[in-house]
Amino acid sequence: RLVLGIETSCDETGAAVLDEAGEILGESLHSQKEVHLRFGGIIPTVAQQLHRENIERVVQEALERSNVDPSLLSAVATTVKPGLGLSLGIGLEFSQRFVRQHNKPFIPIHHMEAHALTVRMLQPVAFPFLVLLVSGGHSLLAVAQGVDDFLLLGHTLDEAPGDTLDKVARRLSLIKHPQCSTLSGGQAIELLAKDGDRMRFPFRTPMGRTSDCCFSFAGIQNQVKMVIIKQEAEEGIEQGTLLSCVNDIAAATQHTVASHLAKRTHRAILFCKANGLLPLNSPTLVLSGGVASNQYIRKVLTIITEATGLHLLCPPPKFCTDNGVMIAWNGVERLREGKGILPPDVDVCYEPKARLGVDMTAEVK
Ligand code: ATP
Ligand code: MG
Ligand code: FE
Repeated sequence: RLVLGIETSCDETGAAVLDEAGEILGESLHSQKEVHLRFGGIIPTVAQQLHRENIERVVQEALERSNVDPSLLSAVATTVKPGLGLSLGIGLEFSQRFVRQHNKPFIPIHHMEAHALTVRMLQPVAFPFLVLLVSGGHSLLAVAQGVDDFLLLGHTLDEAPGDTLDKVARRLSLIKHPQCSTLSGGQAIELLAKDGDRMRFPFRTPMGRTSDCCFSFAGIQNQVKMVIIKQEAEEGIEQGTLLSCVNDIAAATQHTVASHLAKRTHRAILFCKANGLLPLNSPTLVLSGGVASNQYIRKVLTIITEATGLHLLCPPPKFCTDNGVMIAWNGVERLREGKGILPPDVDVCYEPKARLGVDMTAEVK
């Protein structure tokens, strides 16, 4: 059985064809990253237009590379939530037309479920497992208990870690640094932090007194911006031209984001252990989302998992960021279990906001 997966929830247009074993037969990905870097952030109407211009070609390419005729597909799986409404709409509209034209079942996909399950395409990982998803739009901790069965333990109360890193990078105009001109904010900060002193600016880690495992990154962003303003004033230079201590600021920002993620994850692990939510035999933490590509953050999380006896699994960067493969894989998992498969003529709506699983955030103490 073959599944075509389609992703357009944010700023990548992705498509892939997978077989039932999770073998990638063909894929195609168009990233809008460079356009949005130039605009200094994602403008939804621009994202929508770029999806519209690329969706047909991307899907065609994935099918051609896999040498699969649409008539051979068992189903089409497409991200319908959560994400930018204008972006989701393009993928959904295309998919509904496609499944009707070829008379194929349709599988609507939750983008964060797909991020959480991708690891199972790469290696055998049994349910239940704990998952930390960190990206440009999300920060959440959940227990994955089944293909469509998640317990949400924590989520961000304001912004996401990738967004914070992107904003700090923009405030520092890192795009003007020769080594960083094509890097996302998070990548630029990781690179510059390698030569920085993370202790030079001791930023406070948020939520030290709350005992749940939700996240907050707005305070970190604020502290970093205050330091940047102070440094610019001391040196009497224009906004966004700081050079003297960008490495130290990058290192301190990355370190503070990493410690916050680690502290909240530690709480989640203790909660899971106290409530028997994870298997006693080789419990696992899966780390994914764009920010999971960060080697420093991975290393800090390893300290937590080693101290608590968990096994840390993190897909390679290519599978941590948005792509069509993870959507197709979620389709494969659903097809195997016969869950959430719709006939082609059912009208489906996209949902910009959609919580992952059952909300347990108030129970975590
Ligand atoms: P969503 O939250 O809906 O999944 P997204 O498109 O923002 O959407 P991703 O594509 O998974 O998420 O990730 C992009 C984010 O990851 C950006 O904010 C980027 O700065 C961050 N990022 C990418 N590489 C790194 C890195 N090496 N270190 C830190 N952050 C990174
Ligand atoms: Mg993206
Ligand atoms: Fe994503």
